[in-house]
Amino acid sequence: TRSTLAEILLPPDAAHRLVDLTPAPPSQPLCLDKANIEFGMMIGEGNFGQVYRGLMADAQGRQETVAIKRLKPDGETAGQISAKIDELKREVNIMKELRHPNIVRLLGLVESDDDGGFMCMVMEYLPMGSLKEYLKTRTDHITDTLLLKFALDIAEGMDYLEQRRVIHRDLAARNILVAGSQTVKITDFGLAQTPNRGNYYIRQTNRALPLRWYALECIEHGRFSHKSDVWSYGVTCWEMFTRGEEPHLPQKPDILIQQLRIGHRLNLVKPCPDGVYNKLIRPCWDKEPQARPNFSTLITVVEELQA
Ligand code: ADP
Ligand code: MG
Repeated sequence: TRSTLAEILLPPDAAHRLVDLTPAPPSQPLCLDKANIEFGMMIGEGNFGQVYRGLMADAQGRQETVAIKRLKPDGETAGQISAKIDELKREVNIMKELRHPNIVRLLGLVESDDDGGFMCMVMEYLPMGSLKEYLKTRTDHITDTLLLKFALDIAEGMDYLEQRRVIHRDLAARNILVAGSQTVKITDFGLAQTPNRGNYYIRQTNRALPLRWYALECIEHGRFSHKSDVWSYGVTCWEMFTRGEEPHLPQKPDILIQQLRIGHRLNLVKPCPDGVYNKLIRPCWDKEPQARPNFSTLITVVEELQA
């Protein structure tokens, strides 16, 4: 017998995918004391941030290894710096509400004292680094079975984000971290947004965007939705199953738009299996956003491919 309201409202096969939607408890003070954080070496660098390994001491003085992300200290005007700090705060505000096994956990924020130069976010540390790197260096370890597990993890994390109404906008292998031999987690909420009532978000910032991971409507109209995240999920799976290939698409927006409009897409590149390309990846790139699968459907597709 079905008991909970959620089970009554959802199709039976969806029940096992229910996630806890209760808001995160007003957790430990999100603001961390700079004195308890020690920076180690730099472990990664993206377009906007630098990530360091570090140590964080708790109230009992026990030390935990953490990852610390801060803005690149580029010499810019005060106005540009304060805009970037606002963006980092927005990233923290989105990430602090998220609790899911396939999403990197935020531990807190170290506020700056004066000029904001020191402000940084502290996250759980994943020693195996980014999936992009992993695909390139652990080639011998990587089987299609493992990649399907990763594809499932990412779809589950994204399904959770969809339920929490968060559009990621930067889903790519470089923003997935390897947590252990069998698990991956989504990170980098630097471009994430919550949509308006129409369930889409219109681009507001002008920072460099990862166009080759973007759906046609994002590049043409700056229109982002869960379905444009689905497109990027397809590109991320393409990166995985090609073992870290660079997406062979034009970088110039007008040429890219032209090509996507006439139906040009990333090809099937070996060793990606035909079934994975045709059933999982290619449907994510339908011209019509509504025709693309959603993340809960993608979970089922991956499960079928696993069987
Ligand atoms: P950016 O916004 O600059 O792209 P990211 O959050 O994507 O910054 O981090 C950049 C890189 O740093 C990642 O690709 C990864 O290699 C590394 N990195 C980020 N977070 C962690 C973490 N929690 N544990 C281990 N490595 C990380
Ligand atoms: Mg990144």
